[in-house]
Amino acid sequence: MASGVVIVGAGPAGITVAELLREHDREVAITMLSSEPHPPYAPPAMADHFLTGREDTLFWKGRDVCDRLNVHYRASTPVKSLAPQAHGLTLADGSVLNYARLVIATGGGLYAPVAGHDLQGVYNFKSLSAAQRLVDGVRAGRIRSAAIVGAGFIGVELALLLQDLGVTVTLVEMEDRLMWRMLDPETADIVLEIVRVRGVEIRLNTRAEAFTGDREVTGVKLDSGEELDADAYVAATGVRPAIDWLKGSGVETNWGVLVDDLQRTNVADIYAAGDVAETKDRMTGERFVHAIFPNAVAQARVVANGLLGFEVPYEGAESMNSLKHLGVEVMAVGSQTGQEELRSRNDGALRKVFLSDGRIVGFRLVGDVRGAGVLRSLMLRRVEVGPFHDRLLDPRLGATWFSGNVPVHASSF
Ligand SMILES: Cc1cc2nc3c(=O)[nH]c(=O)nc-3n(C[C@H](O)[C@H](O)[C@H](O)COP(=O)(O)OP(=O)(O)OC[C@H]3O[C@@H](n4cnc5c(N)ncnc54)[C@H](O)[C@@H]3O)c2cc1C
Repeated sequence: MASGVVIVGAGPAGITVAELLREHDREVAITMLSSEPHPPYAPPAMADHFLTGREDTLFWKGRDVCDRLNVHYRASTPVKSLAPQAHGLTLADGSVLNYARLVIATGGGLYAPVAGHDLQGVYNFKSLSAAQRLVDGVRAGRIRSAAIVGAGFIGVELALLLQDLGVTVTLVEMEDRLMWRMLDPETADIVLEIVRVRGVEIRLNTRAEAFTGDREVTGVKLDSGEELDADAYVAATGVRPAIDWLKGSGVETNWGVLVDDLQRTNVADIYAAGDVAETKDRMTGERFVHAIFPNAVAQARVVANGLLGFEVPYEGAESMNSLKHLGVEVMAVGSQTGQEELRSRNDGALRKVFLSDGRIVGFRLVGDVRGAGVLRSLMLRRVEVGPFHDRLLDPRLGATWFSGNVPVHASSF
């Protein structure tokens, strides 16, 4: 017998759906499942948690959030498959859980297109459980050196964390710069220098061909033929939507779960939100998975509204990130190129604004991120910036700075 709303996944997307739904509906039965043993947590707060022991940002809604919301939370309960005709989920223990309406919020798992990634002992930093295993090894003194494959956002964040915990870190990246998806070469160079000064050894233009070993990992083989030796080997090679359990269900997937503007899948009564969902990009309209926290929460709001009977379309995913652990503020928003590039560099601060067809399509700020909210707002609203073109690099760019009919808000990041 189908009953209530079932949310698969307890990340920022899942818990946001539960919270908003409960706020407006005290009666509906809500069940939330997580494959992990922890209360709902925010992955961006993990590094800080391991450094400082802080819990309030990690368990950002409170450890007791599910009790408070009267949500039946089933931790350590991975879902294995979905049968939409029966409105049923098969759980890892073989039991079936029925739903009236389903929210897919399983986020992303490690994407590791490197041979040997599944050998025993290859670590990752994609979930709290995985991260805890790695940090436990460091704290127990078993891990004094680490080789991290992949210098994207997570690889760099992890390298800095491990270095701060006293581990000697080598970071291997096949591209010619750090975080190449989000940083243009000049910004990436500044970040590279900061990370190097912090003590991380960085190998750019270096492809890891394989994690080596029989059953257990014993090294990382590089395209140069060299084999890295460390106490711990970490795959930080990317993130892929967790959709394996949807195989054969009829729910349409591409890289992620395909959804419409109301975050509905092609199957009745099934929604998807967060890193698992492939939505349209707010600027380009292309379908993409922009796996960042604010997008997950915004999509979850659309789902909650839908479950409550309100059709509030999703505005589209944004591409933006701010780096927290460098000791220098870095903000990367939108495209890293444009027909025109405005640039200023002084006193350790770099500002770059990319324009196409007279509109902002992206910007990078290092060292001084003032004005970011206004730049972002101008970008999202596709405002023609011709009249104030020369002032876009001014860090004092502020909400009250413009007047007249330019609708600008210094939105928070
Ligand atoms: C180290 C790190 C740092 C980050 N830093 C930032 C940052 O600074 N800024 C930013 O915007 N974003 C950051 N992100 C990305 C951000 O954390 C994600 O965009 C966000 O967590 C997505 O939320 P979600 O709910 O969609 O998925 P997730 O947070 O991945 O949650 C997925 C949930 O689904 C559960 N699950 C998965 N499969 C199953 C299954 N089969 N059955 C049951 N449950 C399942 C998991 O246990 C988990 O509870 C970071 C991510 C990481 C890993």
